[in-house]
Amino acid sequence: MLVVGAILDIDGARPAYVRIRNGRVTEVGARGAEGRRRGERTVRGIVVPAPVNAHTHLGDAVSVSEPPAGPVASLIQPPHGYKFRLLAGASRAEKVRAIRAALLRMEQDGVAATVDFREEGRPGVELLREAARGSSVRVLALGRPLSRPVVRTELDRLLAVADGVGLSSSRDETDETCRTVARACRAAGKKFGLHASEAVREKPERYLDPRPDLLVHLTKATVDDLVTVRDERVSVAVCPRSNALFGRQPDLYSMERLGVSVLLGTDNAMFHAPSLWREMEFAYVASRLRRRPVSAAFLARAALVEPWKWLGEPEAALVAPEMPGRPLVLRLPPDDPAYQVVTRTTEHLIVRGRPRRRQRAAAR
Ligand SMILES: [Zn+2]
Repeated sequence: MLVVGAILDIDGARPAYVRIRNGRVTEVGARGAEGRRRGERTVRGIVVPAPVNAHTHLGDAVSVSEPPAGPVASLIQPPHGYKFRLLAGASRAEKVRAIRAALLRMEQDGVAATVDFREEGRPGVELLREAARGSSVRVLALGRPLSRPVVRTELDRLLAVADGVGLSSSRDETDETCRTVARACRAAGKKFGLHASEAVREKPERYLDPRPDLLVHLTKATVDDLVTVRDERVSVAVCPRSNALFGRQPDLYSMERLGVSVLLGTDNAMFHAPSLWREMEFAYVASRLRRRPVSAAFLARAALVEPWKWLGEPEAALVAPEMPGRPLVLRLPPDDPAYQVVTRTTEHLIVRGRPRRRQRAAAR
């Protein structure tokens, strides 16, 4: 397949052509220099690295009805919030089914990977692994130990199956818990994520002291707090739709201006479909509504580039023949790529490769 249009990736936006075979990039060059080959399928569009969802709770997909109105604490705070009662009341099979459906949705949206905060201890992570079997979405499972104070043997057993630990707010945990978990994650070479300054402002020392790899939300952080977070080089996952449900928004305007490393997540699967395209568009529009506008390029980076850097795989965010993953081809006008991608992408605009002849025959 020959795509003539533009590339939007770690190097920004540029006019280009891209040749793709079996989902992999084989050739990239300046638009106009592509040359035509007989019989080659040609598409006009934008080629991007596949996005990464930097924050989900896919287990929450067991909830299928409108959640009750109320403050965030009554809905998602452990151990008695609405979602924890739902999780406790659902069977293992129901949870696996719900997570599988959420992952399928992400697959259709072209998502390459998700960073999931999985509650329910080691069994919760094992359940997630089972649900993710066979999915093309790579799942980074950040599990959560159940005992408090944290028991070292439980933590080690959790880290043996998880990609790290994702804790509830630092307000819900003692300094000692955060430090113990952070140390264990570092020793195991795994990630440590923490919700912070979501409903009320917390002092940055509180959540930065354990040196987390990822902070989630920071909706109540002040500009000075954000400066500190940037200087400590900690990445922030923001979830504007989930925050909006509770009347809040992250200060994306300051985050962009300060150069904070921002990643985009869709948070609790009981609130929203895990669609980064919808998240991007909402974030863009909401920033205008607050008269704190952010650029489309900033939001596109938060979904397509920053998470790959966070994963230590920046080469996956560069559309080039040596890129390890499969890029997405979006059937969009290529003139202003970031704006087009952020405000207009839906799963229907993702160009799927033609099934190979053998597969087509088998499907008959
Ligand atoms: Zn969360």
